[in-house]
Amino acid sequence: MGSTSAKRGSSANTAIPHGSQSFLTSVNAYFDKAAVLTGHPKGLLDQIRVCNSVYYMQFPVRIKGEIQVVEAWRAEHSHHKLPTKGGIRYAETVDQDEVQALAALMTYKCAVVDVPFGGGKGGIRINPKNYSVDELERITRRYTVELIKKNFIGPSIDVPAPDYGTGPREMAWIADTYQAMSNGDINALGCVTGKPVGQGGVRGRTAATGRGLFFAVREAVNDAKLMKKLKMSTGFADKRIIVQGFGNVGYHAAKFLAEGGATVIGIIEWDGAVVNPKGIDIEALHKHRQQKGSITGFAGAKTIKDGNSVLEYECDILVPAALENQIYKENAPKIKAKIIAEGANGPVTAAAEDILNKKGILVMPDMYVNAGGVVVSYFEWLKNLSHVRFGRMDKRFEEGTNTRLVNTIEQLTGKSLTAADRTFIARGADEEDLVNSGLEDTMISSYNTIMEHYYGNAKVKDMRTAAFVSSIDKIAQSYLSLGIFP
Ligand code: GLU
Repeated sequence: MGSTSAKRGSSANTAIPHGSQSFLTSVNAYFDKAAVLTGHPKGLLDQIRVCNSVYYMQFPVRIKGEIQVVEAWRAEHSHHKLPTKGGIRYAETVDQDEVQALAALMTYKCAVVDVPFGGGKGGIRINPKNYSVDELERITRRYTVELIKKNFIGPSIDVPAPDYGTGPREMAWIADTYQAMSNGDINALGCVTGKPVGQGGVRGRTAATGRGLFFAVREAVNDAKLMKKLKMSTGFADKRIIVQGFGNVGYHAAKFLAEGGATVIGIIEWDGAVVNPKGIDIEALHKHRQQKGSITGFAGAKTIKDGNSVLEYECDILVPAALENQIYKENAPKIKAKIIAEGANGPVTAAAEDILNKKGILVMPDMYVNAGGVVVSYFEWLKNLSHVRFGRMDKRFEEGTNTRLVNTIEQLTGKSLTAADRTFIARGADEEDLVNSGLEDTMISSYNTIMEHYYGNAKVKDMRTAAFVSSIDKIAQSYLSLGIFP
């Protein structure tokens, strides 16, 4: 997911995914492993597992005076809750298998973090780096029109968002196209999330996936029982971290983890990696990349040409935050991390996970770890439907109440607070505070629910299965209470 043109498409490894297992096969293998533990009837599990609808389209776009036929997809995996929700990816590797796998993951992800949406995903098979901004706008708008024609987009139908190779700019084009064609629908802006703040976006959305990842990992490293099992100490102080991908997710994850007290010792990108056992200055690296277009050659670390070899370096927590199928059967035996936190969707294949589990490595699953993006997308959608900025009605009132409380305490105690403390205590919450607090609360409560399954069911041996069981139970419950129509 790229939030600016400089970041767009810059996450690690755009090559064809490694390993022999298709992404959808891997997601379904994970599902099946957990499904047998739930006790739900086979027919119901089949309905939860299948992809409800896929729209494959080919449309013409005029590129440099020539007509180019563009291939694209939108998959709606599950309609047990509406709208369906999930990003749109621009990459040359996009195909139906990938879009369906990603849509399925969105269904499970939304359920695990209690976001009331079904799962969806879209993709356009292009390399965005090969097109000018004008051309990308034409492709994006034409894709949106195709979705509108087939009823595959709308605030109550299917709501896209950014994914690999897209960002707020593309989301603004989608919103504008939808609005222009929606004949005065007052809720039209809710047709897509991840928009720029000035175009109906919500503050905190860009950093949300990385911030959510930080909360997820923080819960794990503060879980004394889990750390004991992994023979690790609690807290971030002694944790060495390697991040694959320095796009929107990887950059923000690295930034928040470093701010939280961990040492980020390696960052991997598609054209090389940088390592420094003493820790990398994330902001300085970000600046370097903005200036040079690459993380390589950064003065504050050593450049390693074969970037992905760094996945196998000694560290405590490995954060694959680029693309799927990065840790596969062949390289899994060489991974030395103690925890893998999946920032990307599907970075560890099912075959690799079996190997990692045997080695005692904890894999924290994508459907929980990277759910921060869709959680805050949900907040953005709510904002669009309510037509008011979070905090607008109560910030000032809260400030007044807090100030009166502080005044009363000062009068009663005869002591006065410093000006800084007074401002801090009295301050009312603004939109970003509320978004971040809603995100934090969601990540903490979802962690606790997943771990109830992890610790509470002897047949659940890994965290992904625990998350899947939690998710399948919620979706099954939803289908059972809905009934089958007609
Ligand atoms: N593309 C992101 C994901 O995979 C965000 C989806 C959304 O916000 O709808 O979770």
